[in-house]
Amino acid sequence: MTYALQAKNELVRHNLGNNCCRRAELTAFIHLGGNLQLSGRKLSLNVVTSHAAVARRVFSLFRQTFKLAVPEVLVRKKFRLRKNNAYLVRINDSPKLRELVEQLGLLHEDKTTALQAGDRCCRRSYLRAAFLIAGSLSNPENSYHLEIYTDYLHQAEELAALMLAFGLTPKTIKRKNGFLVYLKESDQIGVFLNIIGAHTTLFGFENIRILKSMRNRINRLVNFETANVNKTVEAALKQMEAIQYLCRLRGLASLTPPLRSLAELRLAHPEASLQELGEMMSPPLGKSGVNHRMRKLVKTAAALAHKESGGQDSVRRGANHKTKGKQQG
Ligand SMILES: [Zn+2]
Repeated sequence: MTYALQAKNELVRHNLGNNCCRRAELTAFIHLGGNLQLSGRKLSLNVVTSHAAVARRVFSLFRQTFKLAVPEVLVRKKFRLRKNNAYLVRINDSPKLRELVEQLGLLHEDKTTALQAGDRCCRRSYLRAAFLIAGSLSNPENSYHLEIYTDYLHQAEELAALMLAFGLTPKTIKRKNGFLVYLKESDQIGVFLNIIGAHTTLFGFENIRILKSMRNRINRLVNFETANVNKTVEAALKQMEAIQYLCRLRGLASLTPPLRSLAELRLAHPEASLQELGEMMSPPLGKSGVNHRMRKLVKTAAALAHKESGGQDSVRRGANHKTKGKQQG
């Protein structure tokens, strides 16, 4: 089951609510999933959806709220929509249908703007129905994306204005055949789910959002630590090689007492940071002091290696060479 379908299954169980809200909901279903047909002098109204549960909701709105003659529900395979079945709720011509068309202002485009000035409850209902009939929501594990599709620009603008009135900042984009009004920020999608009353979905959505942001933070911390540890280990290895080289060629006794004590500490604690080495000294020495002495040690070793090789070898190569010799021997 897709994430959007989960959300829709929750939303179709909402109470139909006040009369004003039912009207707003039905208007959205007709705007975004319906069409009026006039053949000859006969009028008919169709609402198409790919979800059986949404079709049932449209069906009961027509029947309970507008007492329209039991509408015809047709199931068509691959009708209009590419995948799944499509459910078509059709109302045939009658005085009542004409009254409804008039009441909902379906023949006048500008009638919808009345909704923006209308009650908050109705605006929520409109957005809920818009999402039910034309919305989709991607799984937050993969990406954050919520969109509502419409064939017409004025409806896209209407939807965006309604969302804006709730403090959201949706974007609209033109598609091949119509328009998408969409939200990309996770917190805005959360607000939208709250507005339309998808509370169970919102709960799961927030859980995933929190887990994801925690995972990201932990990863960032781990990467940072790893980089630091790697740097420390690499530096310590270089120092160990230099000190071992000095030790082999001249002995640590050849060093001044401050350098000698640091060299001994480093050999005894290969994994310690410079700061830790400084703390082990008596009296303790600050990090920059230790760093200064350590550089002196490495420099001394380098100078010695340079001299020994007649001006060609380096400490590192010299040390590696010696280790290899030992392993072979
Ligand atoms: Zn209302």
